[in-house]
Amino acid sequence: MIVILHPNTDENSAAFKKTWGYLSALENIRTQKHIVEGKFQKLTEIYLFGDTAALNKEIIEALPAVERVVRVSQEYRILGRHKDSKRITGFEYNGVRFDQDSLNVFAGLCAVDTKEHVEQMMKALKENEQICTRMGAYKPRTNPYSFQGHGKDCLPYVFELAGKYGIKIIAMEILHENHIQEINEALELTGNPTGVMLQVGTRNTQNFELLKTIGRQNEFPVLLKRGFGITLNESLNAAEYLASEGNAKVIFCLRGMKTSFSEPHRNMVDFSLVPAIKRLTRMPVCIDPSHSVGSREASPDGILDIFHVTAQGVISGANMILVDFHPDPIKALVDGPQALQLKELHRFLEDVRITREAYEKRRNLAKESKTAK
Ligand code: PEP
Ligand code: MN
Repeated sequence: MIVILHPNTDENSAAFKKTWGYLSALENIRTQKHIVEGKFQKLTEIYLFGDTAALNKEIIEALPAVERVVRVSQEYRILGRHKDSKRITGFEYNGVRFDQDSLNVFAGLCAVDTKEHVEQMMKALKENEQICTRMGAYKPRTNPYSFQGHGKDCLPYVFELAGKYGIKIIAMEILHENHIQEINEALELTGNPTGVMLQVGTRNTQNFELLKTIGRQNEFPVLLKRGFGITLNESLNAAEYLASEGNAKVIFCLRGMKTSFSEPHRNMVDFSLVPAIKRLTRMPVCIDPSHSVGSREASPDGILDIFHVTAQGVISGANMILVDFHPDPIKALVDGPQALQLKELHRFLEDVRITREAYEKRRNLAKESKTAK
């Protein structure tokens, strides 16, 4: 059961104290408080776990700080919608808004290799008015002898350069809980010039202990990739692990499914699920066209497959794009064949803008026909 308080309820108010006092004294019920920061208001939601079937909804709704109560009937208790379309989606981090209406592009290096490449990438982002990027420091590799990423050694210069070029958020995969500490130390050392979004890769989607640890911290939002060989339901439950531990600042990322039926693409593009995930949960949905397609092949119309699948996700309402770029793809130590070139950044962003505009027109059309009914 979710108890939603009136917007901007002050925790020191008598109304809050009375409400909290009542709820926390309920027998066989565990309470968890969660603050949801919307675009215009701050909402406090109190989750009740345990024997909630026995609770009287009307009595709780009559408590002074309570706006309404939502009975949770389906899965994904915290991140699910539960037929309540009024609940706020998303969050704000380091001045950037993430919700089911926004669209943010995270173009950057799959793996940090040299400081020069990081600087060239960030300079290009700034020239294109971009404030988010991806930078891999810890890389999960199939082959133990492949480059494993520079790890914590590259963090200070990555963060400093981010500050220099006005980057507000870096999406960065972590493979172990120690990496959170390393990121924190490097941010502190460099004077917090940027923000970090912790990425959980497809190989770790069901690493439940890692998810629990990440969920216990509230400082960094999380980008959770869909598991490459599990059902959508299993991946959404993985996201719920993060929220159940206290961190609901979660973005869900589609990155394609592993099957040979996808050939010649690296993975089976699954961006048709963008609207379904937005219906099932309140999470913003990200697409990763680079790891889905895996190559720079183009169709006869001259448009790269990576551009085409990006458009397919954006025209369905995707809220974030995670995409590999590299100043010199031939020299890239990881995933060079799928990296876009810096000279393609402007065109990529323009393609996204055109497609987003088409999505917004489609959304308005749907709204108009609903009000005309
Ligand atoms: C990545 O984004 O660098 C990555 C390794 O992706 P995935 O976990 O989807 O394979
Ligand atoms: Mn990669």
